[in-house]
Amino acid sequence: MNNDLANTIRSKVDIVDVIGERIPLVARGKNFFGVCPFHDDTNPSMCVSREKQIYTCFSCHATGNVFTFLMNYEHIDFKEALKYLGDKVGVDTGSIHIAKKTTKFDNLYQAYELSLKYFQNNLNSSVGKQARDYLAKRSIDEKIIKEFEIGLSLESRDDLTKLLQKKAL
Ligand code: ZN
Repeated sequence: MNNDLANTIRSKVDIVDVIGERIPLVARGKNFFGVCPFHDDTNPSMCVSREKQIYTCFSCHATGNVFTFLMNYEHIDFKEALKYLGDKVGVDTGSIHIAKKTTKFDNLYQAYELSLKYFQNNLNSSVGKQARDYLAKRSIDEKIIKEFEIGLSLESRDDLTKLLQKKAL
C-alpha cells in the first residue's frame, strides 16, 4: 500500500532535516549525532546517517528510517507520517485518507471552539465597540487580538450556556 508514494517521498526527504528539527544534531564525520529520544539518556548515542537515510541508537538499539522515526517520535501511524512528509516536500498526498480520530474529549474541544468563537464574535460585533476602543487605547492591535484569541464576555452570564445547550454540547 502506498509504496510508490512512500518511495517518492522518501527520495525527497532528508532524514537529517526531519530529525534535526526535533532533536539537536551535531555533525561528526559523515554522520550526525544527537540524544536519543527513545530511551532515557543525556549522551548523544543516536547516530543519523545522511548517506543511508537511517538512524541507529547505540544504546537502546532503536533504528529505522524517516518514517519509523516520525511514527515513534510523534506517535502517529504510517499514513500520517507519509502525509506529513508529503506535505512538507510538496508531494501530492491527496490519495491518502486518514480516518478522523474521535476521542472522548471531542465534545469538550467542540464546546471550547464554540465558546472561543462566541467570545470573539462579541468583540467584533456592535456590542464590542467599547471593548475594542479600550483595547486600542491599550495599544492592543488586531494582530495581538488574533494571536491571543482575545474575545469579550458580555454581562448576561448565561448566554454561552444557552448557546452550548442549544448545540447539545
Ligand atoms: Zn536510544
